[in-house]
Amino acid sequence: MGKVLLGCIADDFTGATDLASNLVRSGMRVVQTIGIPAQALSEDCDAVVIALKTRTVAASDAISQSLQALTWLQAQGAQQFYFKYCSTFDSTPEGNIGPVTEALMDALGETFTIASPAFPENGRTIFKGHLFVGDVLLSASGMKDHPLTPMRNSNLVQVLQEQTKRQVGLIEYSTVTKGPLAIRERISQLKKQGIGLAIVDALSNEDLMKLGPALADLRLITAGSGVAIGLAQNFGIESSDQAVQLPRANGRKAIISGSCSIATNAQVAHFLAQGGAGFAIDPLSLAQGQPTLDHAMRWVEQQSPDHPVLIYATATPESVRAVQSQLGVAQAGAMVEEALSGIAKCLVSRGIHQLVVAGGETSGACVKALGIESMRIGTAIAPGVPWCHAPSPFAQGGHLHITLKSGNFGTEDFFTQAFQKLA
Ligand code: ADP
Repeated sequence: MGKVLLGCIADDFTGATDLASNLVRSGMRVVQTIGIPAQALSEDCDAVVIALKTRTVAASDAISQSLQALTWLQAQGAQQFYFKYCSTFDSTPEGNIGPVTEALMDALGETFTIASPAFPENGRTIFKGHLFVGDVLLSASGMKDHPLTPMRNSNLVQVLQEQTKRQVGLIEYSTVTKGPLAIRERISQLKKQGIGLAIVDALSNEDLMKLGPALADLRLITAGSGVAIGLAQNFGIESSDQAVQLPRANGRKAIISGSCSIATNAQVAHFLAQGGAGFAIDPLSLAQGQPTLDHAMRWVEQQSPDHPVLIYATATPESVRAVQSQLGVAQAGAMVEEALSGIAKCLVSRGIHQLVVAGGETSGACVKALGIESMRIGTAIAPGVPWCHAPSPFAQGGHLHITLKSGNFGTEDFFTQAFQKLA
């Protein structure tokens, strides 16, 4: 088996998938793992993305998990390492971007790395070290009110400086636009000045493609998912369809939806309006102990095996509020997640081979119930939402095709479009 070229550590699950999707697009064959695998990698691939859940845990915990992930990636022969965080630089003065970056640098014996959450395609651009979200500065975006990581300073040099003992500098747009050579020169200049970390400006994909070659010699890169698009070229890899080719999909199709976002509500409504078969889960019946799993499975057996079935708890904000006021927010969420993931497991055991899951937490619960530890990443259905091929002990034949959609992603016809894309 060939060696892994790029070893990535992502600080959350959907962020990992987003990065994996960008690497696949640039031609790399990618496996994503859920947490740090207990065993060595059993598949041939160019990049591995380890999905951790360290964005908002205590810095010491984030450091220790990230270092364990690094050790595992080193054991797989990875040559270069990528620490992936959110494109809105989600963090607090305590971390975790700065502390994890420092710990990884120390472990690798590196004295310099970059930090750039730029992802122009998704409206994240950086100019003079200031991060923009669409047309406004980060500090004026919705992120200013985030419950866990409110971002009220758009100057990333300052934001990162608060989180690290190393000196933070900037690679300005005027340098980036001149290309790889100029960026390399600026990096050596910064190193001579004793700068350990540099925020990098970028306004477009072209900027990221210029940045890529300048990073070939850095053992550690820290970034959002955008910088990834420029790295494959350093390994002599060109964008190709081969990277996204998953084994042929067959077998029955199902959708499990536990997201109550505006986008998912529209997707469920659209699927049903087109004549799709749907079974609604009522959280209050669940709370009364009604045998929902049996009802759902009996209903599935009555449906045509040729069309996808939808099982959903997706509901309007009013209805969710009513349920939460009776059951409590956490209890309602946990009960619905348990029911939906139990149904997912039953469906897969009974021959469902193509599964769409809507909702971040719902996806986490389903992946766990299905015993999925790693997934090969394939074609994107929507930006950041790829089809994956995953081993599961519950799947007939040992594998299934699965896609995990976080709440607000995808257009109205996502559910139908997803299966068309796989076919
Ligand atoms: P998203 O990605 O849109 O945030 P998640 O799956 O992460 O979706 O979160 C949705 C949460 O809402 C889950 O915990 C889920 O169990 C819960 N939930 C789903 N449907 C209902 C409902 N009808 N009433 C109350 N809670 C619900």
